[in-house]
Amino acid sequence: MGFQVGLALCGLRGWIAWHGLSLGTAKEMNGRAHATASIVAALPAGLAVGLIIGPDAGLCAVGGCLAGVFINPDLDQLTIERAEWKIIKWLPVIGWAWLALWDVYARVCTHRGFLSHFPIVGTLGRVGYLELWDLALWAARGSPDAVMVTPAQMRCALGAFIGLAVSDTLHWVMDDSVQMAKWGKALLPRFA
Ligand SMILES: [Zn+2]
Repeated sequence: MGFQVGLALCGLRGWIAWHGLSLGTAKEMNGRAHATASIVAALPAGLAVGLIIGPDAGLCAVGGCLAGVFINPDLDQLTIERAEWKIIKWLPVIGWAWLALWDVYARVCTHRGFLSHFPIVGTLGRVGYLELWDLALWAARGSPDAVMVTPAQMRCALGAFIGLAVSDTLHWVMDDSVQMAKWGKALLPRFA
């Protein structure tokens, strides 16, 4: 099942590349195109998760997919990306804190590399990175009490993760479209 989904995604990625549906610059998709894709995908992703896991998880999946506008693979850049500019413009203090929060991540990950951009791997990396900060704050506050996680919270967390993963996978599909087109054109004469 996973293999077929992977194959379908690679096919979709190649198709986008081949038909030149790039909405971004010549080198990569821009932030606006990625944000639009995450917003458009939020409802279908939520509906699908809602049908499979439950309505509460579906709602959390919508939230997760929309969160992908801000928690996205391009946080692997040291330069300020579009979504970050938006936060800085609307909420300056939170915006600069957000930028500082992702500084180490941007230094560790190569821009558009496997760690930040590959589906699921990238999502797990960013969620894990946020969790590290959460644990650090938790430890700094000295809150040793164990927290009980309810089944409803687990379902919501799973839904949110799936929503975010959908957003990140779309990002991956849309990125590299120019590169994929080049590979496609290079390969085609061999099979023609
Ligand atoms: Zn990207």
